[in-house]
Order: sequence, then C-alpha cells, then structure tokens
Amino acid sequence: MNFETFIDLHTHSNASDGSFSPSQIIELAEQKGLSVVALTDHDSVNGIDEFIEAASKKGLVTAVPGVEFSASFQNTEVHILGLFVDYKSESLSKMLFEIRENRKKRNLLIIEKLRALNYEINYDELMATAGNDCNIGRPHFARILIEKGYFTTVQEVFDKCLKRGATAFCSRVLPKPREAIDEIHKAGGLAFWAHPVFRRDDEKHYVRKAVKRLISMGIDGIEAFYTSYTPEQHKLIYDTAIENNLLVCGGSDFHGRNQPAIELGTGFGTLKVPYSVYENLMVHKATAQVIT
Ligand code: AMP
Ligand code: MN
Ligand code: MN
Ligand code: MN
Repeated sequence: MNFETFIDLHTHSNASDGSFSPSQIIELAEQKGLSVVALTDHDSVNGIDEFIEAASKKGLVTAVPGVEFSASFQNTEVHILGLFVDYKSESLSKMLFEIRENRKKRNLLIIEKLRALNYEINYDELMATAGNDCNIGRPHFARILIEKGYFTTVQEVFDKCLKRGATAFCSRVLPKPREAIDEIHKAGGLAFWAHPVFRRDDEKHYVRKAVKRLISMGIDGIEAFYTSYTPEQHKLIYDTAIENNLLVCGGSDFHGRNQPAIELGTGFGTLKVPYSVYENLMVHKATAQVIT
C-alpha cells in the first residue's frame, strides 16, 4: 500500500518558548501519525538530546535536530532555521549561549519598562512560567499579563506592549543572518529562511528582494509550508524557491499551550507538509556529501 505521510519541521519545546517537553512533542507526533518532526527551539539546542532519545524509543517518528535563530536584517528581523545541525558542536553551543545571555539582559529591560507602565510583573514569575531562566521569551510575558487580567489575548499584549515599536519593546543584540547561516553550516546543517511573509504587508516585493540578499549570504532554502500562509503566500514562497533554485522546508511553528491555536503538524487545521519535502532534503544532503 502506498499512502502519504506528513511531517513538521518547525516546533518549539520548553527548552525555548513552547509549553511541551521535547519527549511530549514526540509523543504527540506519534499520536498524530507524523513521520518526521524537527525540534527548532529559539537560540537553543538544549532539548535535542531528550527529543532524539524519545524518538528512538518507539522508532515511529524520525527526529531532526534543529534550531531557530533570530537575526537582524535591514532594520528588521529575519528568522533562520537550521536543520540537521550537529547539536553537540561546541562552536554552535557557544554562539547560542551568548545569544541567550543577551536575551536575559533584554528581558530585564522589558520588566523595567512594564513596571514603569504599572504592570505588576517580576523575574520570579517569568522563571516560574518558563521553567528556567535561559528560555524566557516575550510569549511568557504575554501569558503572565493575561493571567493577571490585564489582557485577553497574546496578540493584544504584543500589539499594546511587546511588538517592535510598542510601549515596552526592547531590542536585543542579534547576530546577522550571515553569522547564523555560517554557524549552521559549520555544524553540518542546512539553513532556511523561516516564514518569510510573517506579519508583513509588502510581502511580494520584500520576499523577492530579501531572498537575493540571503542567497548571497549562503541560505540553502526557504520555508514554503507554514501555519499562517494563505494559498497565495504558499505559492509566492514556492515559486521563489523554484526561481532561485532553493530547497524548501515547512512546519507548524508549534508552541504548545503558548500558542494554543496552532496544532502540531496541522497548524490551524489545514497545514500539510508532505514527506517528500523531507525526502528531497535527504537527497540533497547525500548529493552534497558526494560532491564535497
Ligand atoms: P522573543 O524571542 O522573546 O523576542 O519572542 C519572539 C516570539 O514572540 C516569537 O517566536 C513569537 O512566538 C512571538 N511574537 C513575536 N512578534 C509577535 C507579534 N507581533 N505578535 C504576536 N506574537 C509575536
Ligand atoms: Mn516563539
Ligand atoms: Mn520564527
Ligand atoms: Mn518558530
């Protein structure tokens, strides 16, 4: 019998700003019948050991080690996904550690700004929500402010306080895309531009222009399947990949209960990332190894 299976190459665990542990993500992936799942925590590979071990127990799900970098790019931020990275690479760990230290400094500044705006919030509450202090992200701030009744939705907190330009926004020191891409390559991984059309209105123009810059920095592919894409956006990214001879990846950006509308694998319900996407990446990796 020949039936198609689906995959998810973009997920977050409680090693960053997701609410599920790495092994719970594997368990959920098994329940949903996904064949391949990548763990791509923000600025951290600390969950990968547990993730791979959990997957190897039953052997139903192939676990891909990954990471998601935020990078500063032309007055804005782009996200770079690394897939198939050697998560034990010392150089990668060192870079991620520095990024997390800068994140901590940023978080302290956000607390100060929020308190000055009369929102009661402290570091201990953030620690309790996030589980440890190296993975605190803006979604944790949002959760606390909602629990305290200041807001009703995550989006509302971001719009009022946390997004770029909002009252409590603080930037953090970020790597350049080239640095993230180089580090992913050094760790043997493939580098992808994540969700290129996330929260933008000038998307066509932006994608076509920005992709050229990212190609010059060594990007291998772009995320062509993503929870929030409209069919037009999916087509835009897919066409951009083909026109530029880029690889494609795709996933839900699952965050567990921290973004409850997004389901593992299926996103808002209709996302389907075919197994052939993974197969193609494997073929590419095998060919690249033969050539180099
Ligand atoms: P941080 O890593 O602390 O800067 O937080 C980034 C995370 O916050 C992203 O991964 C999203 O989950 C969420 N986020 C960022 N910008 C927005 C926004 N404008 N609206 C809602 N959520 C956002
Ligand atoms: Mn996130
Ligand atoms: Mn992202
Ligand atoms: Mn993500």
